[in-house]
Amino acid sequence: MTTATPQLSLYNTLTRTKAPFVPMDEKNVRLYACGPTVYDFAHIGNGRAAIVFDLLFRVLRHVYGPDHVTYVRNITDVDDKINARALRDHPDLPLNEAIRRVTETTAAQYQKDVAALGCLEPTMQPRATENIAEMQAMIQRLLDKGHAYQAGGEVLFAVDSMPEYGRLSGRNLEDNLAGARVAVDTHKRNPADFVLWKLSSAEEPGWDSPWGRGRPGWHIECSAMSERYLGETFDIHGGGLDLIFPHHENEIAQSRCAHGSHAMANVWMHNGFLQVEGQKMSKSLGNFFTIHDLLETEAFGGRAWPGEVLRLAMLMTHYREPIDFSQRRLEEAVNLLEKWERAVGDAEPSVHLPAEYFDRLADDLDTPAAIARIHALVMDEGKAAEGLALADLMGLRIKRDVEVDTAVPSLVAARLAALNAKDFAEADRIRAELAEQGIALMDYKDEAGQRATKWEVKR
Ligand code: AMP
Ligand code: ZN
Repeated sequence: MTTATPQLSLYNTLTRTKAPFVPMDEKNVRLYACGPTVYDFAHIGNGRAAIVFDLLFRVLRHVYGPDHVTYVRNITDVDDKINARALRDHPDLPLNEAIRRVTETTAAQYQKDVAALGCLEPTMQPRATENIAEMQAMIQRLLDKGHAYQAGGEVLFAVDSMPEYGRLSGRNLEDNLAGARVAVDTHKRNPADFVLWKLSSAEEPGWDSPWGRGRPGWHIECSAMSERYLGETFDIHGGGLDLIFPHHENEIAQSRCAHGSHAMANVWMHNGFLQVEGQKMSKSLGNFFTIHDLLETEAFGGRAWPGEVLRLAMLMTHYREPIDFSQRRLEEAVNLLEKWERAVGDAEPSVHLPAEYFDRLADDLDTPAAIARIHALVMDEGKAAEGLALADLMGLRIKRDVEVDTAVPSLVAARLAALNAKDFAEADRIRAELAEQGIALMDYKDEAGQRATKWEVKR
């Protein structure tokens, strides 16, 4: 860390305060974010979580050096939604094979989608199915220490065995009791107890274990994988707001009780929801747009939206605030990127980003302020290189390598000639032909007062 780099401060859900970030080991800063359950295309709300923690990864790499940050994002490839999908999509295949098809194609699609959104590959992307032994070992430890019990064909975590259960979400056990459906789960000692392992029927996927052939619950997966790749206690754990309870609360309970530790992660960070008309975008509500559809089809707003537009549209709002997803927001991002692209011309990003331009990001990832900073820099001729460097740090692509048909300049000239000859029908025809190719024209008067035309490739 260079001395001039501003101190990073981060908001911690656990303490509900923003505080200077102090890593456990500056040579290996460790971040875990909950990744996708791979049964279907990811929607743009999932994309927001990927972008937020990618930004954090980039910021940490900037401060501590690219070789000194480990970012783990898991892939949940065992889940009842996956089984249902496999049965529906591949009824003729053996279930194992059908499941493999669903998870492989969905995981590959996810990688493509988030790469298009400008996300770097995490250091590691472990899969649940490759960490079953680790999960079983952790469950056994919880049983041995009296934090878990077997009942009704399940191994359950006993929330009463952990006095601090509920600290992250600010819930107490009485709240949980009131909200739980007591009648359904009579085998549970406390209705808030949650599944670590459940038995599988012959048709369901399962692994042999001391408690019978079965499969893990969702929460144990992140506890086991974060322990394996990041250690018993690590620096930062992230995910969307919806994961605070019960998922992260339960991860903390499992990890701390298994390890007898004071913390699973020191800092817990949560991104706000992406909403549509005030409601969380989610598959269950049916109000979602997939990343793939936005990138590749005209399903939203009658056009496709490039990845850098979607990324900028997200980062225009602070990560803890909700985002209302709208066409207007995306158009604003397009306009901004086009303005920047025009302004930077052929400037190249400066190799070093002056520390003073990093200060807004260092303040709990204040991206709206950082974007205003990029704007001020690129619109100021002498500072375009620094503006590009700040955009680079945020994973925002301003300059594109656009391939333009070699005929474009002569078509532009032919249209100008038609205009001068007052052949407006021909001029309009050529304008429409160019628009088809994504070329926008702007007419103006040059210094000699002559009609002239500028053109550019639209995003
Ligand atoms: P899931 O595949 O539903 O487990 O979600 C993967 C990640 O996306 C988690 O971190 C979720 O919290 C996050 N997420 C899901 N829906 C939204 C949303 N509408 N807005 C923001 N983040 C979301
Ligand atoms: Zn998780």
